[in-house]
Amino acid sequence: MEILHISAECYPVAKAGGLGDVVGALPKYQVKEGHVAKVLMPMYRTKFLYEHEWEVAHQGYTNLGNRWFNFTIIKEKSNILGFDLYLMDINNLLDREKVYGYSDDTERFTAFQIAALDWVSSWKHSPSVIHVHDHHTALIPFMLRECYKYGNINHIPVVLTIHNAEYQGIMGWDKSHYLPEYNTWNWGKLDWNNAINPLASGVKCADKVTTVSPSYLQELKLNSNGLEALFEYEKGKCLGILNGIDTKVWDPEHDKYLEHRFGIKETEGGKLKNKYSLCDEFGLDYDKPLIVFIGRLVGEKGAEILPGVIRDTFEFIGRRMNFLILGSGNAETEGRLNSIKELARNDYNVYIGYNEQLSHRMYAGADFLLMPSRVEPCGLNQMYAMRYGTMPIVRRTGGLQDTVKDFGDHGGYGICFNHVSVGDVSHSIWRAVELYRNKEKFNQCREIMMQLDFGWEKSSEEYIKAYQQINLK
Ligand code: ADP
Repeated sequence: MEILHISAECYPVAKAGGLGDVVGALPKYQVKEGHVAKVLMPMYRTKFLYEHEWEVAHQGYTNLGNRWFNFTIIKEKSNILGFDLYLMDINNLLDREKVYGYSDDTERFTAFQIAALDWVSSWKHSPSVIHVHDHHTALIPFMLRECYKYGNINHIPVVLTIHNAEYQGIMGWDKSHYLPEYNTWNWGKLDWNNAINPLASGVKCADKVTTVSPSYLQELKLNSNGLEALFEYEKGKCLGILNGIDTKVWDPEHDKYLEHRFGIKETEGGKLKNKYSLCDEFGLDYDKPLIVFIGRLVGEKGAEILPGVIRDTFEFIGRRMNFLILGSGNAETEGRLNSIKELARNDYNVYIGYNEQLSHRMYAGADFLLMPSRVEPCGLNQMYAMRYGTMPIVRRTGGLQDTVKDFGDHGGYGICFNHVSVGDVSHSIWRAVELYRNKEKFNQCREIMMQLDFGWEKSSEEYIKAYQQINLK
């Protein structure tokens, strides 16, 4: 098969979260299985862009409403990622430092999608499937089927993967003229609650919709920022496929970011060395269990309860553990996390910002990873942590529920709780600290989780099956 992924992120070119990890890994595994996989994404001003060589693959001229623009598609020359990588350059729109967060994001990603389909419609052949990801590319299924100018490619099957349904890319109907001329009888396929809702439109128009874990798909029918009824209605074409992790990038034995690498046989010693280095850098006490949080400091991740959790556990359980937090996001949460530093010196520290290397060192050096998420479509952190022998402490939701089994259950290896509340999390931390003292049991759990198979092979096969089901229709 020939699969064309169209996405706003792809690791290591540009990544803001899990979406980037998935689009950087899945195509690689599809190629390994003998398929042709291509990725098209916007050309941002990233380090990757300047460090690699490119050739021009296509040039075009198109429009976003009455704004006409040139676009260029460049291809990475050496195939360094293991699949064909194409970047789209649209002057003044896509070539920015960051992926998102600009006031004209709607215009940026709508222009990107139009130019993407213009490019595909200029091909001499058609890909077997177009695979789009999240709301930034979710207008493609509608445009492909309903815009007259894409009549020559409207037979191509299209799959939408939802990595996060909280963000939907909603825009007013006053922007409908951005789209190439379409069959206006079908305007309802764009609409949700009197606005153009790209994610909802993608769910309506794609041939198949996948979510990044089976539990997340069930949750979307109950809680999806207004789209609950739509997911219930369209459930026949929806399917949950758990993400894998890129076991080449996330491998404690070969991780290029680690000073002290370790294989499964040297886990205890290897992790200790990484823990020492972290504790030295952040002024922590390495005799105590180290509990870390890595992620966006937003409500979805339950980040705002962290200051309360840290204060409560120190007060009620005692200073029997260390905390280290890496993240950025909500300014108030950042401020509160900074302000408790003084109070909890030697047992707590925080790094506000995004730091890929530090995240790898934390997965390697920590004893526990805390994830009090309200919403977690799949969650990659817990899988990375387990591969590095770090026990996840997670709320039972979405992909966390699908990947972590409480050590109290038969064959379990992690710690699970039910509510995003200081009390529930503190109780789990108490369980963690007690388990840490029981070295034999703790090491047993470590051994189990390090051997779990979270590789992409299985998930990648499931995606191929999903594509094939459409073709059989
Ligand atoms: P989401 O996409 O919702 O943010 P995921 O669990 O799917 O969450 O993916 C998070 C990814 O982003 C992981 O690879 C995690 O290590 C990384 N990450 C999140 N915040 C940071 C940060 N501040 N520094 C480094 N890596 C981070």
